[in-house]
Amino acid sequence: MAEVVKKHLALIGCPLGHSVSPLIHQALAAEKQLSLSYTLQEIPPAALAERFATGLSALDGFNVTIPHKTEIVPLLDSLSPRAALFGAVNTVRREEGRFVGYNTDCEGFLRSVKAAGIAIDGNVLITGCGGAARMFAFECLLAGAQVTLAVRDSSLTKAAALQQEIRDKLQKEIRLTALQSVDGAYDLIINATPVGMAPHTDACPLAAAAVKKAGAVFDAIYNPTETQLLKIAREAGIPGLNGLPMLVWQAAVAEELWNGVTFTEEEVARVTALAEKELKNR
Ligand code: NAP
Repeated sequence: MAEVVKKHLALIGCPLGHSVSPLIHQALAAEKQLSLSYTLQEIPPAALAERFATGLSALDGFNVTIPHKTEIVPLLDSLSPRAALFGAVNTVRREEGRFVGYNTDCEGFLRSVKAAGIAIDGNVLITGCGGAARMFAFECLLAGAQVTLAVRDSSLTKAAALQQEIRDKLQKEIRLTALQSVDGAYDLIINATPVGMAPHTDACPLAAAAVKKAGAVFDAIYNPTETQLLKIAREAGIPGLNGLPMLVWQAAVAEELWNGVTFTEEEVARVTALAEKELKNR
């Protein structure tokens, strides 16, 4: 039998709080009989370059979260095509002493919605214009959908910059609108704002009337697992999905990169159920 090589992995970010990532990675490893250590390394923004040189470079790979997803880019030797497109990295793999940056958030999003039977086509409404909204907008356009970005008034300049970036990189157009004016029927609504996240679980980024006209709803939030937005969708009989399967899928794709394995939908569903149980017990 081939010897199981232990991989040394980590999540870097700041703050990391009670991250569920170690549990997800250990559960994924158990599905494939992999051996790994997965530590949390809280690194303040100013210390990133020094910590990369002194500790991180001894790891086999690591995940990257806020606030380091773009700041890590200049420290790496090369980027995958998707990481280069977004200018954001959430997974790093050491390949013969060189550090290559990947973005598995996008693959996590695509594989989670596919597994849930939610199609990315027609008219898609995305709320917010931060890092997640940016990735959703690119992926939905690349999948052939029409994209409208709905943002609060104070984000309109930032949203216009994203609109221009998309024009430059994809030669495609997106529509911009104010969150409070959303009323049309969309094939898919994607929430990429933190509105509705614990502890403010009564909040919803859109008016209930607009949500009830949607074909499907995806909320990137995973705590709680049913946000107010998803509750309105469920009560109206509209298919909905929270962000937990995306979180687990992005971890699974990172493990695929680090360990050369491939996860099935059933394996990821088992790990998602474990992570949900853990979140509910907190
Ligand atoms: P981000 O870069 O901070 O962007 C958040 C966006 O939401 C910004 O456009 C922000 O507007 C907007 N926003 C914040 N508060 C708002 C409010 N009260 N009303 C309206 N808009 C508001 O964050 P992110 O990284 O994109 O993450 C967004 C959400 O996705 C978070 O809930 C995060 O947990 C979730 N997420 C989930 C996964 C997953 O795997 N499931 C992965 C990544 C992110 P301004 O630009 O005006 O600040």
